[in-house]
Amino acid sequence: MAKVKAAVKRKGRATTTGKARAVSVRGEGLEERQKRIREIIKILRKEYPQVKTALNYRTPFELLVATILAAQCTDERVNKVTPGLFQKYPTIESLARARQEELENDIRSTGFFRNKARNIIALSKKLVEEYQGKVPDSMEELVKLPGVARKTANIVLSSAFRKAEGIAVDTHVRRLTGRLGLSRQNDPNKIESDLMAIVPQEDWLDFNFLLVDHGRKVCQARKPLCPQCVINHLCPSFEKFARLFSGRK
Ligand code: SF4
Repeated sequence: MAKVKAAVKRKGRATTTGKARAVSVRGEGLEERQKRIREIIKILRKEYPQVKTALNYRTPFELLVATILAAQCTDERVNKVTPGLFQKYPTIESLARARQEELENDIRSTGFFRNKARNIIALSKKLVEEYQGKVPDSMEELVKLPGVARKTANIVLSSAFRKAEGIAVDTHVRRLTGRLGLSRQNDPNKIESDLMAIVPQEDWLDFNFLLVDHGRKVCQARKPLCPQCVINHLCPSFEKFARLFSGRK
């Protein structure tokens, strides 16, 4: 616990030499974890001042569709598909009337295209029939739409409506929260609950984007760049990865 407090007290940029002190989160209490996460967020905000989704969109509906397409697919690939898609289907009504097979072909390159096409048509129909053709701006309503779970709803709420009702847990957030010792859970809903207990609510909007940026640029899935990481003095996994990649046991 003393090590965590010491780490939290340290100010400024972390070492880039790989000599960050080991941080243990064993026995870390809620208050200490809250302090640690506040420090992590402060540093990441400096490192990534322009946080926003990498998906291109013009309306909440376009973001909703783009987020569904982004499941198991890169944002870059989705951004290549959506301009043509929204030119062909410019309104919610036109996607509600789309033919399943044709839409599957339109979005084939994003993977899982049958399921995605089915969900996009079904949610467009529901929006037309029950929501006057508008995307609702609450978690309660969004998760009632076909193919929309909390992650998608959180991304739409935070980016399109600037509303913080939760924290989107995607593959990057899942990986980083585990490495940073912020949650031991595997289930995204349970990870989100753990995060909501320690991340200040004013940071919920940006928390996903900060971790996604850091996950893409530094804390990569296969080989995290721990020695260059600006929060390595606050990360309990630093030593493990440093040992792993230096070839020592
Ligand atoms: S890059 Fe390494 S030190 Fe930084 S958060 Fe990821 S595991 Fe921790």
